[in-house]
Amino acid sequence: MKQFICNSCGKMHDITPTIWKCECGGVLNIVKDTPKVDIKVWNNYPNSLWRYFETMPFEKDSKTWESVTMGEGQSPLIVLDPMEPNTYVKVDYMMPTLSFKDRGAVV
Ligand SMILES: [Zn+2]
Repeated sequence: MKQFICNSCGKMHDITPTIWKCECGGVLNIVKDTPKVDIKVWNNYPNSLWRYFETMPFEKDSKTWESVTMGEGQSPLIVLDPMEPNTYVKVDYMMPTLSFKDRGAVV
């Protein structure tokens, strides 16, 4: 069962439509299971966003994704300004339809 956890005091709350903060005033976060990530399985998939398939909420034996993908994801990062070497931009115009929207559309 999913619950909220208070950021300030750590108290757990059941999720109800009326609760939006803790009695202490703290912000609530959803407690959820974090999928275990085994990066070795990434090599079983193409070098696209589908390499993260094992962490996506799909049937694990499903191969449906293979019929809808055009190779989205894994677009490179480049340095935006050589004078600011820690500033990178994602080059999503290298996606199949030249748009960042490919990523969301295919999923
Ligand atoms: Zn609290």
